[in-house]
Amino acid sequence: MLASTGGQILAGGTDFYPALGERLPQGNVVDITSIAEIRGITSQPNHIRIGGLTTWTDLIHSPLPPSFDALKEAAREVGSVQIQNRGTVAGNLCNASPAADGVPPLLALDAEVELVSTAGKRQIPLGRFLTGNRKTLRVADEILTGILVPRRVESAASAFLKLGARRYLVISISMVAAVLQKDASGCVAEAHVSVGSCSATARRLIRLEKDLIGLRANAEIAETIRPEHLSPLSPIDDIRATGEYRLGASLTLVRRAIETCMGRAR
Ligand SMILES: Cc1cc2nc3c(=O)[nH]c(=O)nc-3n(C[C@H](O)[C@H](O)[C@H](O)COP(=O)(O)OP(=O)(O)OC[C@H]3O[C@@H](n4cnc5c(N)ncnc54)[C@H](O)[C@@H]3O)c2cc1C
Repeated sequence: MLASTGGQILAGGTDFYPALGERLPQGNVVDITSIAEIRGITSQPNHIRIGGLTTWTDLIHSPLPPSFDALKEAAREVGSVQIQNRGTVAGNLCNASPAADGVPPLLALDAEVELVSTAGKRQIPLGRFLTGNRKTLRVADEILTGILVPRRVESAASAFLKLGARRYLVISISMVAAVLQKDASGCVAEAHVSVGSCSATARRLIRLEKDLIGLRANAEIAETIRPEHLSPLSPIDDIRATGEYRLGASLTLVRRAIETCMGRAR
């Protein structure tokens, strides 16, 4: 249908309808919510697959390894329970808002997205799929059928922290996801840190990730995180916060997320 007549994909509708405002949809709307085959989470030998129609509530109730704690924490912060019941993880990624709460945890997990159309199937790292504010590499007739998370660091500790102007039903001013793996001697073997709402798309803090490797995983580690580590971010001033405030808040959130991981890491 998408290939022959075209149309806009509708999943949970929690971004789709608010974006229309008072207008009616123009052209065809292709409601994909009955494609049961792409709903749910499965464990495969090399990755964990989150189907393209998996809702935030499905995710919250799925038994998943510790590296997914951050994604589950993000899921619990998406809107409200009603929104989590309808909204899908894939819809969050395809909508490509800079403030999409699902993006930082999935970026920190090195997730890839699977896109299917009548022309075939392709897999793209999430960091490349998101090209800007509301922009992705998805072409009009492609469905995001799955999110693939490599199992390589599944036993790592993870954490997600979100700052908004109030506790619930709030668009993020900044949010941070961290995944941290310790080695047998108690040092950081691997660290992945990403920040959202502070650039057109969420960004990984690659230099920080490198600087953390080899450090003893204890409370002092957070003090090694400096403002320069946030250089990949380019936050703007808007109605929710100034860019300067976002940077300061992000530094605190990054430190706290790393500390939280440290407390959880085995
Ligand atoms: C009151 C309220 C509060 C909210 N709070 C938050 C929040 O705190 N944090 C947050 O991140 N978001 C929030 N949102 C936004 C929204 O709920 C999420 O982004 C949700 O995950 C979107 O999923 P959906 O299935 O509803 O997408 P839809 O609205 O159905 O679709 C969104 C976009 O993605 C496309 N699309 C959807 N699924 C696919 C697919 N499988 N393949 C290809 N294209 C697809 C659609 O065509 C559309 O362009 C909120 C929304 C509301 C209304």
